[in-house]
Amino acid sequence: MSLSEIFTDQEWEMLCDNCGICCFYKIEDENTEEIFFTTVYCPYLLLGEKKCAVYAERFRFMPTCVKIAPETIARQAEWMPAHCAYRRIAENRPLPDWHPLYRETSDPNILALRSKLRALGFAPIHPGKAGEPKNVRKLKRRASKAILDDQFEDRLIQNVFNEPLG
Ligand code: SF4
Ligand code: SF4
Repeated sequence: MSLSEIFTDQEWEMLCDNCGICCFYKIEDENTEEIFFTTVYCPYLLLGEKKCAVYAERFRFMPTCVKIAPETIARQAEWMPAHCAYRRIAENRPLPDWHPLYRETSDPNILALRSKLRALGFAPIHPGKAGEPKNVRKLKRRASKAILDDQFEDRLIQNVFNEPLG
């Protein structure tokens, strides 16, 4: 069964923890094909509010914005942070212990999704821990909003974040 058959559209959206890290620019080393996150993020990302300012029309406002979809996640996973639920599902790993879906709730949609994740082996191992990984918090502390001028690419190269994002 494919991921698009397993998860409804609503469930797929709920898997995102809204960390915003996929909205940070990345650089690929031409020789090694290694991907590095930078500390520079999309001008439409509202980092503190953990949301996109133009979400419904994001592809019109930001042509380089990429949809994370069940059909494409297998090839997108390598440039997502390691804690991202989509990457973890693509890699057949459980969600992180601190995932917001595992906060106390009586929401029937969340409870149904939790059951599905448990049945598929994607439930966190010790659900309920609080907080994003340390290196994600560190990246956010250093973060700066992109200025899309002539020096944009030069500044990106100077802003590589040299830590793996767990
Ligand atoms: S990295 Fe994953 S969890 Fe974080 S905002 Fe992007 S899609 Fe959502
Ligand atoms: S436009 Fe795309 S890359 Fe920019 S903040 Fe919105 S979702 Fe992220």
